[in-house]
Parts: sequence; structure tokens; C-alpha cells
Amino acid sequence: HQAQLVQHEKLASVGRLAAGVAHEINNPLGVILGYVRILQRKAEGALAEDLKVVEEEAVRCQQIVEGLLDLSRPGQGPVEIVPLRETCEDVVARLREAERLGQVDVRVEGSASAWAQPSRLRQILLNLVKNAAEAAGTGGTVEVRIAPAKDGGASVSVSDSGPGVKPEDRRRLFEPFFTTKSTGTGLGLAVSQAIAEAHGGRIEADTGPLGGARFTLRLPPASAEREAMA
Ligand code: ADP
Ligand code: MG
Repeated sequence: HQAQLVQHEKLASVGRLAAGVAHEINNPLGVILGYVRILQRKAEGALAEDLKVVEEEAVRCQQIVEGLLDLSRPGQGPVEIVPLRETCEDVVARLREAERLGQVDVRVEGSASAWAQPSRLRQILLNLVKNAAEAAGTGGTVEVRIAPAKDGGASVSVSDSGPGVKPEDRRRLFEPFFTTKSTGTGLGLAVSQAIAEAHGGRIEADTGPLGGARFTLRLPPASAEREAMA
């Protein structure tokens, strides 16, 4: 509980800071990216390659700023009934289109609906499926399983065939900026947990049926959820 409190405080202070500075950083960053893209059109060879690196790193900064903003406003906007199966399938299709899934077999099973902010919910699913595909790697498998809960809520679990979470990393998974990836931001799970909590739900991690990690999003029944968002 102490650790959870520290994490909440860390989230809250990161959120406040983010709301204050993210906007200020976003504008110059947008200008940098705009100019880099103009230069890229004129450049060739080694210079073009260097500019590609500048562009990629600037985009990375944008992602961090976006993640910080998400932490500062995990639950804004109207809730509606969201069909979870369609939403999951759509998220998977979009990740596939963006070539973020590599050679990973992703299956979606089951169905249920939940009261949620569609865009926020999609963001959780996007983060979980992206992480699962990254963990599973080439030739791996990801399974998204949707089920109604006994209490009237719903759950979505994302399991992968990857190496799982190391015991020493388990309690840090949802910490802002915790990452074991060379190009990770460490914000995906922190943002996702903040959004889940804003919906009156939570995300839990354990070992799944495919041998790797399983992240389960639990959403409460409509009334509890809508109260949490109010
Ligand atoms: P990022 O993906 O940028 O590293 P996240 O917050 O999404 O940040 O995840 C934090 C860390 O949690 C990852 O770096 C990884 O160590 C661990 N993790 C998340 N999902 C999985 C998974 N499906 N299997 C194993 N480890 C995972
Ligand atoms: Mg991630």
C-alpha cells in the first residue's frame, strides 16, 4: 500500500508538471519537426540519413510529451457503451496497418461491452497489445480475450508467448518511466493504469496461458464506472 501511495503521488506530480510544460514544449517541437521535414525533402545521402535520426528523435520527444499529457488527464470526455470486441479488433487492425505488430499472430476472442470513453479505452488496448507483440517477437503469439464479469463489468486480458516479466521488475511495471527497452518511454502502462483507474477499474499483471505475461484490464459495471468518471 505504501508503494501504491508513492506511485499515486508520483503520477499526480508528474501529471501536474506535464500539464504545465507539455504545451510549451509541443510548439517548438512541432516547429523543429516541420523544418526537419522540409530539409529532408532537399537532402540526399548521408545528410538524409542524419535528418532521419533527428526526425525520429523529435517524434520520440512528441510521444513522451503526449504520454505526460495523458497522465495529467486520464479521464476526460463523455463515456458511452463500447463494444469491446469491435474495439479490440480495430486496435489490432490499426497496429497491423502501422506495421507495429511485426510477424506476430494476434487473436481476439470473446465479447462484452463496457461503459467507457472510447478513445481512452482504445489507448489502453493499444498499449497492452503493442507491449504484448513486442514481448512475443517474430513468430510469437498474442491472445486478446474479452469476457463479461460476474459483477456486470467486463475484462479484457492480453496474453503473449514472450519471456514474461522478470520477478524483480514486477512491482515497477506501472511506474512512470519504467522501461527495459532501449527505445521505450516507460509511459504506456502508467498511462493505461491511470486511465483504468479513472474508469473505476484497474489493470493487473500475471503469467498467462501462452507462457508469457498477461495483462488484464478490469472494468466495473456501468453504475460504478459512471460514478468514478463523474
Ligand atoms: P515501454 O513499452 O515504453 O517500455 P510500458 O510502460 O509500456 O513502457 O512498459 C514498461 C515495461 O513493462 C516494459 O519496458 C517491459 O519491461 C514491461 N512489460 C510490459 N509489457 C510486457 C509484456 N507483455 N511482457 C513482458 N514485459 C512487459
Ligand atoms: Mg509500451
